[in-house]
Amino acid sequence: MTLSVDGFDIEKTNVKGNHTPSNGEDNHFDVVIIGSGPAGYTASIYTSRAKLRTLVISGSLPGGQLMTTTEVENYPGFPNGINGPELMMYMQEQSERFGTTMLIDEVTRVDFNSKPFKIFTGSSAYTSDSVLISTGATPRKLGIKSEQEFSGKGLSYCATCDGPFFKNQDIVVVGGGDTALEEATFLTKFGKTVKVVHRRDNLRASKILQERAFENPKIEFIWNSSIMNVKGDKKVSSVVIKNTNTDEEKNLEAGGLFVAIGHEPNTAVFKGQVDLDEKGYVLVKNGTRTNIEGVFAAGDVHDFKYRQAITAAGFGCMAALDIEKWLSEKRSR
Ligand code: NAP
Repeated sequence: MTLSVDGFDIEKTNVKGNHTPSNGEDNHFDVVIIGSGPAGYTASIYTSRAKLRTLVISGSLPGGQLMTTTEVENYPGFPNGINGPELMMYMQEQSERFGTTMLIDEVTRVDFNSKPFKIFTGSSAYTSDSVLISTGATPRKLGIKSEQEFSGKGLSYCATCDGPFFKNQDIVVVGGGDTALEEATFLTKFGKTVKVVHRRDNLRASKILQERAFENPKIEFIWNSSIMNVKGDKKVSSVVIKNTNTDEEKNLEAGGLFVAIGHEPNTAVFKGQVDLDEKGYVLVKNGTRTNIEGVFAAGDVHDFKYRQAITAAGFGCMAALDIEKWLSEKRSR
């Protein structure tokens, strides 16, 4: 059956699902979950298991931020730790077991004014009675001119992905939070030296990660310093830093620069559709509800405080229960 949404004719999509469509339309779902981190996958396990026809639109890299994380030591149930991609693969498998439809694609537009809601990707469109926004957050950029030029040419936002390319090289990591120290520690497996450049003289990272980094002989800290420029021919060969107290600039020889300075919520596509706060995080009330009835949010896309895999999974579970209740109340009216 062909469905037309805003003049967008859908012939045959790449969606494969195990559920019988609730209203006979291939592209209509009870729940569309946008984003496939711990929040999205957990929600989909609950909604599929509750026999709601569920589509997860995963983004271009299914699994979210944990796909770029090394050892996860604090996710309950794995006494010896588990690596991020493996954990996400298990979550996906668990969700598919209950019939979730998975679609690897980016959402380009949503229309939450219409009922059912409309969700567009580059090549297809879907309708849904409810939507969960679980698009997470992406790494913050330094905002220097040379950042774009050297991105992928020695400048990286993901130590897990790119660390092995920097064997026996001098590496600079920028940031003072958990991510920066976790990445710096991980990068000592490959790099000759690892310098952590931080804009203050006080780390934001948790004490345990600080202790590990301080004890690691390969890690050196450069305090009160900002990255001003990245230099190199075809790839990074040095990083210019400036002391924020003295304004003195210094050139650090480095084959790699890892940027680990926090994240921005992935909400551009929802601007004007749901209420966002001044930093762009989705505003939620009464659990996981947004200002639009039937649209919910879970995980790092609204939670800038805890930002843990386990809390994102918890929010995903809450959202699924909120969705189930909301749909059943709406349908019994
Ligand atoms: P974060 O906690 O927000 O830390 C960002 C760091 O980058 C801060 O030190 C900040 O400096 C610095 N920074 C921000 N903008 C900058 C800029 N433009 N130039 C230079 N430095 C800049 O982010 P995160 O480390 O990614 O952690 C995010 C959340 O995930 C946290 O809640 C964290 O606990 C959690 N997390 C947990 C684990 C774990 O438990 N294993 C691992 C990774 C992340 P200031 O300190 O001066 O603001």
